[in-house]
Parts: sequence; structure tokens; C-alpha cells
Amino acid sequence: MSVLVITGGSRGIGRAIVLGAARRGWSAAFSYVANEAAAEATAAEARALGVACEVLQGDARDEAHLAALFDLGAALGPVDKCVVNAGVIGPAGPLAGMDADRIRRIVDINTTGALLTAREAARRMPAAGGGPGGAIAIVSSAAARLGGANNFVDYAATKGAMDTLTRGLAVELAPSVRVNAVRPGIIETDIHGDAGMPDRAEILGPDQPLGRAGTAEETAAAILWLLSDEASYVTGAIIDVAGGR
Ligand code: NAP
Repeated sequence: MSVLVITGGSRGIGRAIVLGAARRGWSAAFSYVANEAAAEATAAEARALGVACEVLQGDARDEAHLAALFDLGAALGPVDKCVVNAGVIGPAGPLAGMDADRIRRIVDINTTGALLTAREAARRMPAAGGGPGGAIAIVSSAAARLGGANNFVDYAATKGAMDTLTRGLAVELAPSVRVNAVRPGIIETDIHGDAGMPDRAEILGPDQPLGRAGTAEETAAAILWLLSDEASYVTGAIIDVAGGR
């Protein structure tokens, strides 16, 4: 039986990954930072699908919290899958108008938090260290290649770092752990409200080559495939789930 550890599993793409994992029979331990009701609802849905699911409140910037999250997963069985998912965005605008606190927050959660999460996985999962081996998936963004001009170049820069992390860590952890990334485009989740554009997916959807925004489930499908044995010869890959954007 597989056990997945994922940051930010309460809502959006993370929630879809936890539930998709449950449908595959994978148990999970996931974190959330503030929304306890959403976290408990997601965990209850996963358990109703017949798997174990544990929840831990904490911040992806906090290494003690991340260690506890992996311990929680390990109590369910050997942790052979990890998704580096938690990420935030700030109000849209050009870089010149951003204050240092906002930039530091975005960089700290999206980059330092992701690196610390991936580090915890790198310490525990490789077969050479007595771990089960397995797969890590990193949630980047189409913004990493598009740049986020006039909206959130800080966020885009943190996602560029995810692509670089994926390439490097895939080599470090081969052959027992595969490391891949997904770059979602415009996906229908709550994150756009945090950018001050709650209707962004609805408004920009028709402009996308596929004519609509994507769903959290469509994004999760690519991530779950990368984590599965069906992707056994895929590592260091960065897959766009962006509707042609
Ligand atoms: P979302 O709906 O806003 O959900 C964010 C999740 O992350 C929630 O579970 C939230 O917990 C958790 N979280 C936020 N800050 C955290 C922190 N400091 N520590 C731990 N957990 C934290 O976002 P989403 O759209 O699903 O985004 C998930 C990932 O996909 C992010 O990395 C994002 O950058 C990326 N992405 C999204 C899109 C898109 O269009 N939606 C596009 C490209 C990339 P609470 O519920 O407790 O707040």
C-alpha cells in the first residue's frame, strides 16, 4: 500500500490529489495552514473512499512541522509518494509596487517551504538510506515560463525555482526516487481570490487554446500519473497542464 505526504491538501489542487490518491487506494497525510473545516471535510471524504487519511495543521515554512507531517504519514506505512503543493500568491500588480514583506512571504512559502518539504522527502524516501523509494511531484506553474508580467512576477519567479529544483533533485535521488513537476495553467480554485481576481478563471478561460480554464481534478490526474508506476521511466520531467497556454 502506498502512503502519500502532501502539503496544502485541504483545498483546490491538493484536495483533488488527496481524493484521487484515495481512489487509487493510497493513504495520505496532508497539511493545511488555516482552514480546519475544509481540511477535515477532505479527510472525511478520503476516509469514506476506504483509505487512512491524517491531517496536520502547520506552515510549510516550518521544518519541525514538516518532520511531524512525514512522521504522521510514516505511521500509516512507508511513505513512497510526496507532493510539494502548498503555494500562495499576492494581489496582482507590477513588481515596482510590491513591498518587501509581500515578496518575502511569497518567496518563503513557495520556495523555502517547497525546498524544506522536498528535503524532508529526500531524507526519508531514497532506498540508499533505508527508505522505500518512490516518487515526488512538485507543483510549479505555467507562470514559471510566462513570467507573470504586471500581475505577480514574484510568484512566477518562485515557480521558476520549482522547475530548477525538479531537474536537480531528479538527478540527486535517481534511481530509487523519481522527481517530476506539473505546471498548471489557469485552474479553477480559490487561489485567484488571493490575487484579488476571484473570477480570473471564468474571465480568462475562453481565451485559452482549449477554450476554458482547467479543473483541480484535471491537474491532479497528471500528478497522480507521475506518482504512479505507469510513469516508471519518467523523471526530471516538467509537464504543462495548461490547456495549450
Ligand atoms: P488554493 O486553492 O488556494 O489552496 C492552497 C492550499 O495550500 C490550501 O490547502 C492551503 O491551506 C494550503 N496552504 C497555503 N499556504 C500554506 C502554508 N504556508 N503552509 C501550508 N499549507 C498552505 O490553491 P491551489 O490553486 O490549489 O494551488 C495549489 C498549488 O498549485 C500552489 O502551489 C499554486 O501555486 C499552484 N498553481 C495553481 C494554479 C491555479 O490556477 N489554481 C496555477 C498554477 C499553479 P488552507 O486551506 O488551510 O488555507
